[in-house]
Amino acid sequence: MPRQICLTCQRPLNVCYCSALVHIANRIKVLIIQHPLEVKHPFNTGRMAHLCLANSELVVAEALGYAELARLLGPGSALLYPNLVWLPAVEQVGAGGQLAAGLLEQLVVIDASWRKSKKMLHLHPALQQLPRVSFEGALQSNYQIRRSSIVNSLSTLESIVMAMAQLEPENNFQGLLQPFEEMIALQQRQGGQ
Ligand SMILES: [Zn+2]
Repeated sequence: MPRQICLTCQRPLNVCYCSALVHIANRIKVLIIQHPLEVKHPFNTGRMAHLCLANSELVVAEALGYAELARLLGPGSALLYPNLVWLPAVEQVGAGGQLAAGLLEQLVVIDASWRKSKKMLHLHPALQQLPRVSFEGALQSNYQIRRSSIVNSLSTLESIVMAMAQLEPENNFQGLLQPFEEMIALQQRQGGQ
């Protein structure tokens, strides 16, 4: 018999985390561009973030057409990404979402493995040219990076929590970690299957 899947979180029913979902009315829109491989990742935390953030959009694609990307990247957008040496030097978004031209309206997040995220940046020069949010300089946070035995690196969801806490301090984003912790607890109860 095929395993039944929850249509909301797309996890098997015995590890569905939907009861722990929260609802956050965020001001800055979060646009998650998800690599198709992440859809199948058991910890699809990009989807989890989208389910919790009222003002968010999830787009699944490795490559986007010029017109579609232009539609998605409205004015006041910035990319959440480290300042790698091969990337163009661009404006850095300050704490509180401050841009020279006004307040940040949209945070663009690439949900992909590290290698695939670099490929996606190469495919989309428009993403490289956006103002950038990185965890260096002014945005360096004393937020404790949480690591679990299952998820070894900062997940997409944790990165969003960390960034939004700095960009939109008037809102509390810690609640986003609730379904994340529930998901890990459920998985551990299942014997880490
Ligand atoms: Zn579910």
